Amino acid sequence: MDLDIDTVRVARTRADCVLRPGEVFLGGGTYLYSEPVPAGVSGLVDLTGMGWEPWSVDGAGLRVAGTCTLEQLVSGPGALGAHTGGPYRALGLVAPCVSALTLSSKVGRSATVGGNLALGLPAGSMVGLFVALDAVAVIWTSGVPTGSTDGSGAREVAVAELVTGAGVVDLAPGEVLREVRVPSAVLAQRTVLRRASLTSTGRTAAMVTGRAGDQGPTITVTASVAAALSLHARDHAAVDRWIDRMDSTGAWFEDVHGSREWRAAMTRRLAHEAFDELVGA
Ligand SMILES: Cc1cc2nc3c(=O)[nH]c(=O)nc-3n(C[C@H](O)[C@H](O)[C@H](O)COP(=O)(O)OP(=O)(O)OC[C@H]3O[C@@H](n4cnc5c(N)ncnc54)[C@H](O)[C@@H]3O)c2cc1C
Repeated sequence: MDLDIDTVRVARTRADCVLRPGEVFLGGGTYLYSEPVPAGVSGLVDLTGMGWEPWSVDGAGLRVAGTCTLEQLVSGPGALGAHTGGPYRALGLVAPCVSALTLSSKVGRSATVGGNLALGLPAGSMVGLFVALDAVAVIWTSGVPTGSTDGSGAREVAVAELVTGAGVVDLAPGEVLREVRVPSAVLAQRTVLRRASLTSTGRTAAMVTGRAGDQGPTITVTASVAAALSLHARDHAAVDRWIDRMDSTGAWFEDVHGSREWRAAMTRRLAHEAFDELVGA
């Protein structure tokens, strides 16, 4: 971005989050500052001034603020998940999902969870992470709720439903991705990640995340499709039928990071590997 804009406001209250004409929200700015100014944008509203606690965990589960940076996500929840077999072992998925982004450590210090989800890129690995963890996004609807400074005027949407296409997200203009919530029940469950890219440092072109839930494994495909797809997988045959359906419905995403055919083949292989790992084969 050549920063050809008129204003930057730092949001400190919910009222500050009400956008004026031409304004958009700013998270870490790692996307906004790397692209030309979008048509019609003349101002930024910096959400990092809201001072939200980056993450917290209690009996209800894990909460991650929209402004939590990827670095904070790894050093906090990611570190909790580093202990194999511990009460937070599902969070072992955090660090590899952050690594699946082609970000330098400098960019990772600024890039936020909310910015990654709000962009809705197929290679946005926060989607695969939080869908696998059965997370819900809390979204502040636009405007300030009457008689309230916080808490009301919000809606919830499963992260699985948040991104509906490549760069298409269920966020109306002026809506803020306030936080994502991971239910406590999943925190101790086993998780898995498999990914493929054309080169060792290339953008993720197929990603399969999964979790061994009480009712069996659930696997989620992102990056090779425009929006996350999940399957409660019973066996390998069910995995194959699921991938076959993606073939027949033309579900595969294609760009310079991989052809449809290659992504389809990689996804099938990764999905079977993830299933095997989750069932302990
Ligand atoms: C070198 C490089 C490599 C990259 N690699 C990848 C990659 O592999 N995969 C990938 O997905 N992305 C990638 N990106 C894009 C981007 O850096 C990341 O998606 C990052 O996570 C965006 O977060 P951010 O906080 O910087 O967003 P910003 O740039 O601040 O904002 C991005 C968008 O989200 C909106 N937004 C931000 N926060 C919120 C919020 N809380 N509520 C509502 N809207 C919000 C903004 O208005 C804007 O439209 C890359 C960028 C660079 C520069």
